[in-house]
Amino acid sequence: MSTYTKKQVHDLVEGTLDWDSVHKMLSMPKDKERYSLYMEVLQDKATYDHKIILALGPHLNLVEKTDGGDIVAMCDCGHDFGDYKNNWKLGANIYVRDTAEKMDEVYPRLMAPDTTWQVYREYSCPSCGSMLDIEAPTPWYPVMHDFQPDLKTFFEWLELPAPAKI
Ligand SMILES: [Zn+2]
Repeated sequence: MSTYTKKQVHDLVEGTLDWDSVHKMLSMPKDKERYSLYMEVLQDKATYDHKIILALGPHLNLVEKTDGGDIVAMCDCGHDFGDYKNNWKLGANIYVRDTAEKMDEVYPRLMAPDTTWQVYREYSCPSCGSMLDIEAPTPWYPVMHDFQPDLKTFFEWLELPAPAKI
């Protein structure tokens, strides 16, 4: 098992870590400190004081709020998407690429999916406009709930104290 510095974890998050180190990090058993270092790096970047407990995406985290301890999905800008057990996408702005003309904006003509079979749904933050996720379902498919973490088990596995309101 390898251990890494906070600087290496920071560089991994920023996408500037050298490939050899990235490959080692991916392929070796995870060190015990990885979660804490990762959360520290994310917290240093955050514009808010709420405690980050899990990353959901490049600009979206689960946080334990400083005012009351609720656990919510939160954008980098501080936009609160509400309780982590709900699907945050239902509170996002949604742009649906469901025509050939809309697909032309991201693919060369004839390289895009047939929108009668597949559309793109782009989810963005209503406050800052950051794109938070994209899904590529069939047109009729419901909004996907990517996952609902089992935080109790997760913190047991980490051997760290869990937030009070899980
Ligand atoms: Zn935002």
